[in-house]
Amino acid sequence: MRWSIGAVKITRVLEMPPVSADPARFIQAGRQEILDRRDWLCPHFADEDGNITLHFQAFVVESGGVRIMVDPCIGNDKQRSVASLSMLDGPFLERLAAAGYPRENIDYVLCTHLHADHCGWNTMLVDGRWVPTFPNAQYLFAKAEYEYLRGDERGDAPAILADSVKPVIDAGLATFVEPDHVIVEEVRLEPAPGHTPGHCFLVIASEGQEAVITGDALHHPVQVALPQIADNFCWDKELAEATRRRLLKWVSDRGALLLGSHFSGPVGVFLTPDGDAWKAESLTAGR
Ligand SMILES: [Zn+2]
Repeated sequence: MRWSIGAVKITRVLEMPPVSADPARFIQAGRQEILDRRDWLCPHFADEDGNITLHFQAFVVESGGVRIMVDPCIGNDKQRSVASLSMLDGPFLERLAAAGYPRENIDYVLCTHLHADHCGWNTMLVDGRWVPTFPNAQYLFAKAEYEYLRGDERGDAPAILADSVKPVIDAGLATFVEPDHVIVEEVRLEPAPGHTPGHCFLVIASEGQEAVITGDALHHPVQVALPQIADNFCWDKELAEATRRRLLKWVSDRGALLLGSHFSGPVGVFLTPDGDAWKAESLTAGR
């Protein structure tokens, strides 16, 4: 799946088959909130029973010959507390190469935040050691996000630091950046705290067109209509809602393409205002 924003090419690479689940597993909403909006959520983003559909996917953003890997998914061989994310053995790198991006050709890696499903392929297991998957890339980490991960003793955080971040630093490939860092002229970070303290989203602007890659500023399109719905993995719910509303307003005001990091179906949506929230008005089928 591929989009063009001006001269920038964006390619989606899926890690695993779409996940269908009770909304409550991921967000603070029930099946009724979904079914009340079935006219535009079904069939791409939910099913007729009110289950939501989510993707685990990465994006490659190519601007002026520079290739940026955004949120390299879960990774293979990683021991995680959630069974469905643990010890994967999938063909992500083969899919990436088939899309035109062998791992050696990636110039930058950007993680919107350092949760297990956004930085796993930072590294891969070779002869029992974690080594950077993208050997010729500069890995960009928001300083605040790295500091948060380093101080977090809960859940998978210590494992993520040890197997997906530390080996990159040890290999000399990590650069610590501010949350408004400009990667290349057409691609920049925007601070988006809330889901985690150092969470960023990615803004792509080229030839008068714009797009945003959300990271986990939202998980599912129902949050476009109900921005007050938090996700279950959130650091600061109020801040996350403020960030989500700021993002959605910006996207709607500017006619930008919203690429949802966990959105299924067409992945990209345009927004129009709807009361004090928004509606995903026209879907792009991608190309
Ligand atoms: Zn996520």
